[in-house]
Amino acid sequence: LKIAAIREKGADERRVALVPDVAARIGRLGCDVALEAGAGVPSSYPDASYKDVRIEPDRKALLGSADVVLAIQPPATGDVQAMKPGAILISFVYGRNNPDLVKALRDGRITAFAMEQVPRISRAQAMDALSSQATLAGYYSVLLGAVQMPKILPMMTTAVGSLRAAQVLVMGLGVAGLQALATARRLGAVTEGYDVRPETRDEARSLGAKFVETGVDATGQGGYARELTAEEKATVRAVLSDHIARSDLVITTAAVPGRQAPRLIDARQIARMKPGSVIVDLGAEGGGNCEGTRAGETVQAGPATLIGPVNLPSRLAEQASELYAKNVLNLLEQIVRDGKLSLDMTDEVIAKTLVTHDGRIVNDAVRQVVE
Ligand code: NAD
Repeated sequence: LKIAAIREKGADERRVALVPDVAARIGRLGCDVALEAGAGVPSSYPDASYKDVRIEPDRKALLGSADVVLAIQPPATGDVQAMKPGAILISFVYGRNNPDLVKALRDGRITAFAMEQVPRISRAQAMDALSSQATLAGYYSVLLGAVQMPKILPMMTTAVGSLRAAQVLVMGLGVAGLQALATARRLGAVTEGYDVRPETRDEARSLGAKFVETGVDATGQGGYARELTAEEKATVRAVLSDHIARSDLVITTAAVPGRQAPRLIDARQIARMKPGSVIVDLGAEGGGNCEGTRAGETVQAGPATLIGPVNLPSRLAEQASELYAKNVLNLLEQIVRDGKLSLDMTDEVIAKTLVTHDGRIVNDAVRQVVE
């Protein structure tokens, strides 16, 4: 079985889907491993660090000979067309946003696994790339905010008096938000967390944070949140405005599956913030949790600096690639036996992660949008 990882082409994408250690472990599954030349260089893995891996400079030849293609970002349709019919793709696909790609996968008879569809169940945790990447994004969001602030995070005693610890508020306590709380606390900040799922209360507290109580419970399906009603939004707003106003750094990470990022902070709330305060909006790519966020930009919004980062995991490319490659390896271990493919379509993880197979779109939600 030939397994190949391609070089990511996106301008801001430094990650790679295969790292040297994982390449060696895939080799031990009885597979031949190949890498597009230079693919690991932006994430600090030179070609020479991949032992027993064929380095292929010709992308088309690599794609045309592979039984399994590994990538991070959804590939270009041209790349899909260069793949063998019946080959497997493992990458993020985001099928509902990429209908042309899904059609190319279907028409090319590619068996495509969409990493964003790995179910959030205990057994699949080791394959959960959304979580591995969100953890790093949550960590990095605090650093981004910290260097933008005109003050330090920890309390500090100096010869001329003490400096107070900064107040950090994290809104949205999923994987990224909890890691942001943990990171801010490690850096010495006084932390508060808020989410619409009450079960996050204990998680926030276990990380040394105070939980902001709003009395609203918007637990939705499968451990995710649902959208708030207008009345709930007003209640939450009334409670949170004071917390936002007294924070030095606010990190927002709220998301509702299949919807635009919910609006958590409006311009009137920002106007009440302290001069020099900073908001890092991790919802930027999904439309922003804050009024005025611009994806990929840092803007001044009244007294606050508003940062709208995109693809934070790529900035931690070495370890983001390592974690992603391990997620992929754990998925490969489910579908490769003795160097051969063996797809168990009745397995929940495989069934839910597949987007196209055998010339068909097998994910209902994606099919509804594309066909
Ligand atoms: P996400 O990125 O979809 O959303 C981030 C957070 O925003 C969530 O905690 C959500 O409740 C919150 N949110 C949504 N609307 C909000 C609003 N209006 N105000 C405040 N907060 C709001 O979340 P995620 O990190 O992908 O995690 C989603 C769920 O999946 C969580 O329950 C998490 O524990 C669970 N999960 C399970 C596994 C597993 O069992 N394998 C792995 C990862 C995550």
